[in-house]
Amino acid sequence: MGKQRKFRQLAAGFLFLIQGVFLASCDKNQNFNLLSVQEDKRLGLQVSQEIASKPAEFPLLDESQYPAAYQKIREITDKLLNSGKLAYRNEFVWQVKIIRDDNTKNAFCTPGGYIYVYTGLIKYLDTEDQLAGVMGHEIAHADLRHTSRQLTKSYGYQFLINAILGENAGAIAQIALGLKTLQNSREFEREADDKSVELLSVTSYACNGTAGFFEKMIAEGNNPSVPQWLSTHPNPDNRVEAINKKADALQCTKTPLSPNTYAAFKAMLP
Ligand SMILES: [Zn+2]
Repeated sequence: MGKQRKFRQLAAGFLFLIQGVFLASCDKNQNFNLLSVQEDKRLGLQVSQEIASKPAEFPLLDESQYPAAYQKIREITDKLLNSGKLAYRNEFVWQVKIIRDDNTKNAFCTPGGYIYVYTGLIKYLDTEDQLAGVMGHEIAHADLRHTSRQLTKSYGYQFLINAILGENAGAIAQIALGLKTLQNSREFEREADDKSVELLSVTSYACNGTAGFFEKMIAEGNNPSVPQWLSTHPNPDNRVEAINKKADALQCTKTPLSPNTYAAFKAMLP
């Protein structure tokens, strides 16, 4: 190989590196992310279309049949979205759908803000504050762009880019299924718990709503239906403590709303 050719190859490699560094930049939350905000949005849109096309895996509750339930879940979502505490309030879609599956106590949010809440979770909880807390936690994962960073770690950057560009058939389906059980890092879970308290702190909800969910889970002991993001690190006891500490620091209310209003919401579900 001639010296000049070798130099050109080195220079090209260097330029490629530099380009990568500039394209993958720090986001509004000062977090380094290989995916751009646009790519988060494109990935979220494709995953949401995949979910809508797979009723066997994702039996979405039909909004035309249950308009009151959707109105209620949007009302809860809007309170969190309008807290003034989200970095991507206007850029992300923040669409919420209910999944009709009473056996799953879970919720998740795609990159770009497509939120999914299982009927199993709604029915399990006792107050609206608890649901708002868990939803706040999921919204936080998308807004802090944990989900795209975690997906990059799990699948690799090139896999995600190929999926977004439609160059890998089946990749979006794999990502959609993976989101149900995506294991976030301990640090991401703590950040999302904290952010949930912040989002709720400017609403009428008890700002430690998520703690109520963990406390219920702890009281039940080993439950096979406990979602993975909850059953592993950091352990729920520590999380309850950290959430309450955050609430005390923000001096926000820890008084939950009456379970009666929440029971009315549950009654809207099939
Ligand atoms: Zn989480």
